[in-house]
Amino acid sequence: MPHTLLLAEPRGFCAGVVRAIDVLDEVLDREEPPIYAFHEIVHNRHVVDGFRERGAVFVETIAEVPEGSRIVFSAHGISPQVVAEAEERNLRVIDATCPLVTKVHLEAKKAAKDGFDVLLVGHEGHDEVVGTKGEAPDRTTVVDTPEDVAAVGDGGREKFVVTQTTLSVDDTAATIAAIQERFPNAEIRNDICYATTNRQAAVREIAERADLVIVVGSANSSNSVRLQEVAAGTGTTAYRVDGISEVDPSWYEGVEVVGLSAGASVPDSLLDPIIDDLRARGVTTIEPVVVAEETVEFRPPEVAS
Ligand code: SF4
Repeated sequence: MPHTLLLAEPRGFCAGVVRAIDVLDEVLDREEPPIYAFHEIVHNRHVVDGFRERGAVFVETIAEVPEGSRIVFSAHGISPQVVAEAEERNLRVIDATCPLVTKVHLEAKKAAKDGFDVLLVGHEGHDEVVGTKGEAPDRTTVVDTPEDVAAVGDGGREKFVVTQTTLSVDDTAATIAAIQERFPNAEIRNDICYATTNRQAAVREIAERADLVIVVGSANSSNSVRLQEVAAGTGTTAYRVDGISEVDPSWYEGVEVVGLSAGASVPDSLLDPIIDDLRARGVTTIEPVVVAEETVEFRPPEVAS
């Protein structure tokens, strides 16, 4: 049975998620429910369920929201079309889009205005990608893999490359290399954020020393899924779980060293029961494996009355 637990650092909440959660938390304290949120405020089932119990209503379209209601936009960002729809319905908007996602929107918008075709490296259909693509829908092509790059038409315009913030660092490098080969003059912005980069580096480090890695995070959390993939990519057995209820104790059989990490939308409270359970099973050494110190903080978004 395991005797050592390696804790990836950093892991869990990033500055953008803290900002989005804090703002919805404050609005729910201050105003009468229902408070609407466009898309899940962050991609974590436990966080979202907790807000739902307090009166938050998560919607997929603006048409679901009654005129004049309070609405919070999620950390993943929204397209200008959604902003316009919210204005038409006189919604009282708080935009909790992570500033690092906003930066990608601005890059894509400017590139299209300057006459480029935008290649958006990311996962088609992900909330963040839908929002970024909305800045210049007619000029933007989403590419996920090097194979997708081969299918991109020339279009006669120079290419400008932006990325989703929560991608695999390694997979993105391969896709960008394919773009550079096909379009040597392409202007490249790699927008994978500090939190994604640091969490992937930390999980790789623990995976190289562990017999088993557990990543806490929801299935719709891009960065959590990437962490499991990065850990598994080292050859170590790696599972992603939403919480301890999904941990199968048989995973620990024959395992001496366990590694634990969590996606950027995961509170530490979801890791505590897993750590306590491992202690009860005989883990005596708990070692933080630190690859980076994070000091990033974002100012809260504007709250109009
Ligand atoms: Fe912002 Fe990165 Fe966190 Fe997404 S993962 S909310 S881009 S800091």
